Amino acid sequence: MGWWRQLFTPAVRVALGLVSLMVTLVLIAEMFTGYPSDRGELVRNHHALVTRAVAQEVARTLSTDTRDLAPLQRVLADARAHEPRLLSARVLDNQSQVLGQVGNHEQGWHLETGSSSTLDNIRIPLLVGNQRWGEAQFVMQPLYPTTLAGWLREPLVHWLAFIAVVGLLVYSLYLRRVLRHLDPNAAVPERVRTAFDTLTEGVLVLDTVGRVMLANKAFTRVDGEDAKALTGRDAAELRWLVDSLPAERRSPPPWRQAVQDKAPVLGVPLHVVRAHQPTLRLVLNCSPISDNGRVRGCLASFADVTELQERTEKLRVALEDLSASQKEIERKNEELTLLATRDALTGIFNRRSLMEQADQRFAEARAQGRPLSCIMCDIDHFKSVNDKYGHGGGDQVIQGAARALSRGLRIEDFVGRYGGEEFCVMLPGSTLAQAREVAERLREDIAATLGAALREHPGVRVTMSFGVGELEPGMADPAALIDLADQALYHSKKNGRNRVTAWRTEDTETAGAAA
Ligand code: GH3
Ligand code: MG
Ligand code: MG
Repeated sequence: MGWWRQLFTPAVRVALGLVSLMVTLVLIAEMFTGYPSDRGELVRNHHALVTRAVAQEVARTLSTDTRDLAPLQRVLADARAHEPRLLSARVLDNQSQVLGQVGNHEQGWHLETGSSSTLDNIRIPLLVGNQRWGEAQFVMQPLYPTTLAGWLREPLVHWLAFIAVVGLLVYSLYLRRVLRHLDPNAAVPERVRTAFDTLTEGVLVLDTVGRVMLANKAFTRVDGEDAKALTGRDAAELRWLVDSLPAERRSPPPWRQAVQDKAPVLGVPLHVVRAHQPTLRLVLNCSPISDNGRVRGCLASFADVTELQERTEKLRVALEDLSASQKEIERKNEELTLLATRDALTGIFNRRSLMEQADQRFAEARAQGRPLSCIMCDIDHFKSVNDKYGHGGGDQVIQGAARALSRGLRIEDFVGRYGGEEFCVMLPGSTLAQAREVAERLREDIAATLGAALREHPGVRVTMSFGVGELEPGMADPAALIDLADQALYHSKKNGRNRVTAWRTEDTETAGAAA
């Protein structure tokens, strides 16, 4: 159907009508200015002249010698060769004896004996003086052809065909130009155009093949040409428009697609790059215009979303910045938390968070009725380390002690720096005996390795003393448990250092009594 509509454009249809009218007029003119009567008359006269001349020639030939028929035959052949309308001829004597013949005479000769000549069957008597001795019969071409091939050879048919073909071509081309330049704007009522012009969106009304029938003011502002110049142009000829379509939307363009599918094509983004002007971002919507189910054209609207997209883009960048600074804040917070909870020198819990953790574990142990033990430990004769190796050396030893304590613990145990070179280890779930074993292991490990923390003074031996206590029913808070372990530590110090004291509250009383 598509090609049919393409071929029979309005211009071609009007041209066909004009050509038919012209052919009819030519035929009527021919008829009224003497056709066919004149032609009949002309042909009849021509036939009469030709046949009479040939008959005379025949008579003359036979009057010299009736026995030699060759000259007669020559006359007939000669006549046929020179007269295209002569189809056949025959010469008979009074006894109907055939004296000479050319052409297929039986086919064209229809006259009964005695009947008079017609336009194409002509008989002429041959006389000697007044005496008739024979007859010449001629079959001429009929006035009108009797076959299609005959008609095709007719000059009139050639002439009409020429008029039709050339007329159709010339009229079509001419009408195409005329129709394009005829102003279809005239077909659009003024109030409709005014209504379209008030819209801030660009609007094109297109016909089914995409030619502009109406362009509103907003569209011409983008396009740069005035509405009159746009009318009649193929929208696909607007370079900027085609170039700003997404590549996959160019063929067919959205307006043709909407007409083909009889369905709207919506939300096509246009990226209009203009010389010396900011790039425009438009959204194209194409809706078919239907009339009783037939699509008559397409309404294309162009919404300018440049500002909206710019704002969206700015918002996106701002959000990205925000998210980046949020991440930075989170990182800083983590750093701060670390700084607030960790001891700067050793990286283990500082005293404050050690006490917070201890509070939690204490409450859990109480609630679950599970054991909880505490180890307090202190570097032996640390003052002399400081004295001998300087404050820096002392710091190295404190760091080494923190490392050694950390690596000797289970995952649920934790260690914190309680004071200068004093550490506190909490062991949730461990009984006094288990905690004592842990402390003993730590003591041995430290006695063997802590000296190596003094990197510039190999071979120095540094030890630590340990005190261990376990959560007891009478204890009100973790401080009471720590205090118990601290007293055990004091006991270890008093009893020679580099040792572990593990005890219960009742043991402190006996120890106190002993002291
Ligand atoms: P004892 O065996 O009885 O524990 O003897 P001690 O010399 O270790 O005595 P004490 O535990 O009282 O020593 C505390 C000293 O630790 C005092 C202080 O100069 C030192 N100290 C405290 N904090 C730091 C620190 O952060 N760095 C260094 N280098 N020394 C510290
Ligand atoms: Mg000490
Ligand atoms: Mg101390």
